[in-house]
Amino acid sequence: TRGAVPDIDDLATRILNGERRALARAITLVESGRADHREATTRLLDLLARENRQSLRIGLSGTPGVGKSTFIESFGMMLIAAGLRVAVLAVDPSSTRSGGSILGDKTRMEHLSREKNAFIRPSPSQTHLGGVGRRSREAVALCEAAGFDVVLIETVGVGQSETVVSEMSDLFLLLLAPAGGDELQGVKRGIMEMADIILVNKADGDLKPAATRTCADYAGALRLLRKRPQDPDGYPKALMVSAATRDGLEAAWDDMQMLADWRRENGHWQRRRGEQARYWFGEDVRQALLARLETPWAQGRMADLSEEVAEGRVTPAAAAKDLLAGLGVG
Ligand code: GDP
Repeated sequence: TRGAVPDIDDLATRILNGERRALARAITLVESGRADHREATTRLLDLLARENRQSLRIGLSGTPGVGKSTFIESFGMMLIAAGLRVAVLAVDPSSTRSGGSILGDKTRMEHLSREKNAFIRPSPSQTHLGGVGRRSREAVALCEAAGFDVVLIETVGVGQSETVVSEMSDLFLLLLAPAGGDELQGVKRGIMEMADIILVNKADGDLKPAATRTCADYAGALRLLRKRPQDPDGYPKALMVSAATRDGLEAAWDDMQMLADWRRENGHWQRRRGEQARYWFGEDVRQALLARLETPWAQGRMADLSEEVAEGRVTPAAAAKDLLAGLGVG
């Protein structure tokens, strides 16, 4: 990681002024593994949190090829046309980039990336999901401080990434493609339960009939899920959209705003943000402890103790106690 630690007060001021270069610089700082950068980041986030600016944070998940980048381009341009400022971040936990594409790659959002009221940032190069999650969450906080009205957080439908993204979102969208047959697309129940709105994309041309069927199937599946007390009737819901023709995007946006307003009014919004802060506190503690295991000393000690355990000279429990004592956390 390059660079000296910037002047944090100055950086904070420029971020609050909405300067995109300052925001990009701060995200780079957040993504750095260096201890002095980490300390500066912590101070920066603390300064910015005092302003308590909030964006509408929208998580968006979907497998490669369903049309996420096309959707973000069209939806983002629609929001920009409505006078809003839009940030796009990506959380990509996969070691091999999904389908050969880089999430949040600007070339996939050609028009949006040229808008002055848009900010697009690809996923940090992947380490373990915990690290990517925390950094993304902090990048979201930076975008909020920079005054973006909407922050879109894109991820792929693999492993734990939806959970991580839902922990930094106010609304969670699941993007699906029309199914070929009549089977539901093997969408895991847990992911369905996370979704506030399922968007069946590509509801255009020859794919329209399949999209209509798929949408009805998912609407049916959603009705079988437990109703959430914090939501109005009819949510979670399934809608048809076409990212290509932009059909249905306005309606989807109306529904998102309706749900967000409802949650703000009944206190769910703040409650949920409180729960999320609690979650990220726990994650920070866990990540910091895990980082202690990654020092050369800890790695060496661990290797030595592993040998001793394997040879039966010490029990796993005693070796663990020994190692933790050495780390000062025993
Ligand atoms: P991602 O991998 O989820 O980001 O998907 P892309 O946005 O790259 O889209 C994958 C493919 O689906 C591309 O060939 C797009 O042109 C196409 N596609 C995306 N949205 C639509 C849509 O609304 N209708 C149709 N017919 N094709 C779409």
